[in-house]
Amino acid sequence: MAGSRNEDEALGEFELIERYFARQSDADGVLIGIGDDAAVIDAEGPVAVAIDTLVAGTHFPADFPASSVGYRVLAVNLSDLAAMGATPRWAMLALTLPDADRAWLEGFSNGLFELANRHDVKLVGGDLTRGPLAATVQIIGTVTPGAVLTRGAGRIGDDVYVTGTLGDATAGLASLRGPRVPDDAVRARLEDRFGRPDVRIAEGLAIATLANAAIDVSDGLIADLGHICVQSACAAVVDVDLIPLSAELRAACTPDLALAHALGGGDDYELCFTASPDRSDAIRSAMMQVGTRVTRIGKLIVGDSVVCRRDGEPFSVPASGYTHF
Ligand code: ADP
Ligand code: MG
Repeated sequence: MAGSRNEDEALGEFELIERYFARQSDADGVLIGIGDDAAVIDAEGPVAVAIDTLVAGTHFPADFPASSVGYRVLAVNLSDLAAMGATPRWAMLALTLPDADRAWLEGFSNGLFELANRHDVKLVGGDLTRGPLAATVQIIGTVTPGAVLTRGAGRIGDDVYVTGTLGDATAGLASLRGPRVPDDAVRARLEDRFGRPDVRIAEGLAIATLANAAIDVSDGLIADLGHICVQSACAAVVDVDLIPLSAELRAACTPDLALAHALGGGDDYELCFTASPDRSDAIRSAMMQVGTRVTRIGKLIVGDSVVCRRDGEPFSVPASGYTHF
């Protein structure tokens, strides 16, 4: 970065890249990594590619911990590949920084590589520019032909499932904004689900040949299941009593608020997917093998929207109070 203004910026652009981003050894498939005009990778087959940007002030507050920004910008991309049944392999990072704040870069890169290493993803290149704080990751993953999950492959009569539990991240965000959840363990768990969401890569792979449609829950169950409905030309009915809620969410919120977070809140990065009822045993055992809870919450039906029911009666989703940053 040109135009150094303080001691911390004494490191030039290439030293910054070397120090903070060129820390993984090259792996299978990386023929040319960081340091040349372009990376060269050997995917040996079809790839899934996704890209997502986090902008300070829009997707996270300017004072959000740097490590969480680094973690999340990769997590949102990995989650998109999970929902396709893809295996993430390589990432590119475009980072725009107001200044070369070394402590911020240290935190950001630590958060990013924590998640990258957990899922064996290699950072193979990127870009570093000066400007308002924003981070973009492009992710590339391999897919097996015939085992790719899409939003549009749902069929009427399919069961609708979700992995894990819903609503925790929204409750965690509310706690971070205050008032904080009083119980230490409950607060830590909920805030972590917002700041350091895990992503369902193994789960996406486990259901890739069993499920029909899939999406990751980033904007809220009702909204994201709605995308499956639009693209699969059907409606969904969700039984709200079946929605999986964590013990922490139930401890921190009233039952109505917990349900509102679970149906309307985003950022949990669970998978929502549909499958033919005759796959239900196979789905349960595939999920058991990866050690993840899976819950059937409803069905795809004729129509064009997501409707909720409780005890067979129509149920209107309460406002969750969730808003994007
Ligand atoms: P060019 O000027 O040819 O675009 P750059 O100077 O932008 O190249 O980048 C030099 C090398 O460093 C490239 O291999 C690029 O992919 C890598 N790189 C730049 N910024 C980052 C970053 N934030 N993270 C990882 N690699 C980066
Ligand atoms: Mg460049």
